[in-house]
Amino acid sequence: MAKIVWTRTDEAPLLATYSFKPVVEAFASTANIDVETADISLAGRIIAQFPERLTDEQKMDDALAQLGELAKKPEANIIKLPNISASLVQLKNAIKELQEDGYDLPDYPDKPANAEEEEIRDRYDSVKGSAVNPVLREGNSDRRAPQAVKNFTKKHPHSMQDWPADSKSAVATMDDNDFAHNEKSVIIDGDDELSFVLKAADGSEKVLKEGLKVEDREVVDATFMSAKALDSFLRDQVAYAKENNLLFSAHLKATMMKVSDPILFGHVVRAYFHDVFDKYGDELIEAGLNGENGLGHILESLDKLDNGNEIKKAFDKAQEDGAPLAYVNSHKGITALHVPSDVIVDASMPAMMKTGGQMWNKNDETQDALAIIPDSSYAGVYQTVIEDSQKNGQYDPTTLGTVPNVGLMAKKAEEYGSHDKTFKISSAGTVEVRNSAGEVLISHDVEENDIWRATQTKDEPIQDWVKLAVSRARTSGMPAIFWLDENRGHDATLIKLVNKYLADHDTEGLDITIMDPVSATKKSVERMRNGEDTISVTGNVLRDYNTDLFPILELGTSAKMLSVVPLMAGGGLFETGAGGSAPKHVQQVLEENHLRWDSLGEFLALAESFRHEAAKNDNAKAKVLASTLDKATEKLLDEGKSPSRKVGEIDNRGSHFYLAMYWAQELAAQSEESELAEHFAPIAEKFSEAADKIDAELMEVQGEGADLGGYYQPSDEQASKVMRPSATYNQLMEELKK
Ligand code: NAP
Repeated sequence: MAKIVWTRTDEAPLLATYSFKPVVEAFASTANIDVETADISLAGRIIAQFPERLTDEQKMDDALAQLGELAKKPEANIIKLPNISASLVQLKNAIKELQEDGYDLPDYPDKPANAEEEEIRDRYDSVKGSAVNPVLREGNSDRRAPQAVKNFTKKHPHSMQDWPADSKSAVATMDDNDFAHNEKSVIIDGDDELSFVLKAADGSEKVLKEGLKVEDREVVDATFMSAKALDSFLRDQVAYAKENNLLFSAHLKATMMKVSDPILFGHVVRAYFHDVFDKYGDELIEAGLNGENGLGHILESLDKLDNGNEIKKAFDKAQEDGAPLAYVNSHKGITALHVPSDVIVDASMPAMMKTGGQMWNKNDETQDALAIIPDSSYAGVYQTVIEDSQKNGQYDPTTLGTVPNVGLMAKKAEEYGSHDKTFKISSAGTVEVRNSAGEVLISHDVEENDIWRATQTKDEPIQDWVKLAVSRARTSGMPAIFWLDENRGHDATLIKLVNKYLADHDTEGLDITIMDPVSATKKSVERMRNGEDTISVTGNVLRDYNTDLFPILELGTSAKMLSVVPLMAGGGLFETGAGGSAPKHVQQVLEENHLRWDSLGEFLALAESFRHEAAKNDNAKAKVLASTLDKATEKLLDEGKSPSRKVGEIDNRGSHFYLAMYWAQELAAQSEESELAEHFAPIAEKFSEAADKIDAELMEVQGEGADLGGYYQPSDEQASKVMRPSATYNQLMEELKK
């Protein structure tokens, strides 16, 4: 029997799963497909780390590791819902909840005192941050706005704020001595092991890393960000923002780039508050308050210092006198400098574009802003969109073309795999990348506090990416642009490889070009305004950025994107939307039993998963399940049966019911697979007859708070009860299974 793996994750998508998975199981079984669950939730990941401390009943397999193995096999067909990429706070909260639930888990050791505690921390750290996607993404990425969604948006456009006629908003980025400008790139000749060594002027050496395995033909790059150049750039920008009354904020990716970007954030905080750090820097740094954990953390910790009050006043005064700061939450006084992970570039920049190039100020009003993106590798993309909007006005979703993405992602490609190869330089010298024969492949002269990093991009993923770009260009008929900059070390290498591997394919009649990111953005937005479509073929970081930027402009959100990962071994990984796990949605369930989570991403992914099964195993019924599901989804959108944000109106549960009903109706109406039509005809009728009753039963539970029996690990029984409150509907689903 064929198998689809449905991931059990966290928060809103997990709650939605309690209601939707029974539907998936019932429909899939009619095409002889089993739906299995793999628990990759934060709680599940934690539990799997400590089997020796838990009872047999509590123990759980390491489902993530197993799924990672499955992703490398041809039979993989995995539906991946968004999961928590745990911050330390989330991790500690989850540990606490599990401890209170009777799991004998150790506390997270903040400062491990011995080897045992270090080992415990290592285990916890392995489930922290972006621990899931890199394990499963054994392929490159194909993300696009499905036609049904695009059609719907053209009829019901999301709101976009006009750009002021005199908009002064801009992106500020470095023009030298940053990661982009210092990058050097090599292609490895033969399997090897590399080491990174910091050589001081006196000839002494410090090994930063050794034994790094690399494969034949792998691309290895190294680069650094000069701390001095960064500080000087940042101080200029603080002054510029003040002079021009622009909201100051930094747009980094402290979550994903978890080693480099918190350090960059620290520089930003210190540059903005340079007067305070000039005066009190020694004390602050001595107390570990260097800004890398944000202004909020500094302010909370000041009372531990003898002159904390005095320093607090200095911070307040600096903010009063300085450039206006962008706010994340002006009601609570949280600025964009408070928490390193509050402003995340891929989400924050499109939000700024949607808001007419503005951010929020202290008084909860929108205002022109200066977005600081220190490294210039990708900053030009946003500046180009800003310039285009300032010249031509806000984008009109009713007429926009689309910019889907084919992204190089497999095997932790490029910057997103660089965490274990990123170092803050302890003293001036030369960093050398050496091969096992001792030859120096790359070297950089660095100074104290510079951030040096190396990245790897394996050859097989590059070949697969080029192939995917050609096949998407062919299937869609759209022009495809590789966004690569010949002036960047890594990109220059990739341009050679792209040209080489394009020759392996039939590209006759296809429009495939290579442009630097700024020119590619110009071209793509110009075409988009004309209602024309253009595939962006990008590296890993722009994959992430573009699949938020363009969907947010086109559709108002990236959560409505279809996100397919054709696995290199032949399987399929279907990610459900690009949104996260929406903690605010769970809060609303706890308070008023209304789940506003939209499962559109799950519907789209499921259809692709059936399509994959159909093609792979010649499963004609799966093919019909896919096409009818797409039709049902389109109907759901047209009939306005998506979840509303407000209590007392249709929510996630109601939308699942309507989807099931429309899907059954479509199956009953089709003539391709008569067995399926016969099976679904009676149930479709019963659904229609009972629709009003079911609707009422689903609606009447709303209003009062719900008890899920746990946040990170809800009780299955309680959550299921909350998410499946209609006896009539549950009864019909039982009948469907027979
Ligand atoms: P988020 O979960 O990305 O959600 C932000 C907002 O986006 C939500 O509050 C909601 O807006 C809207 N949204 C996203 N998906 C939606 C959907 N399917 N239906 C309706 N609205 C949707 O917020 P976050 O706080 O940045 O991230 C939460 C957690 O998710 C973090 O742990 C993060 O690391 C993780 N994450 C995971 C993935 C992944 O696994 N692929 C991706 C991104 C983030 P309203 O509140 O206005 O309704």
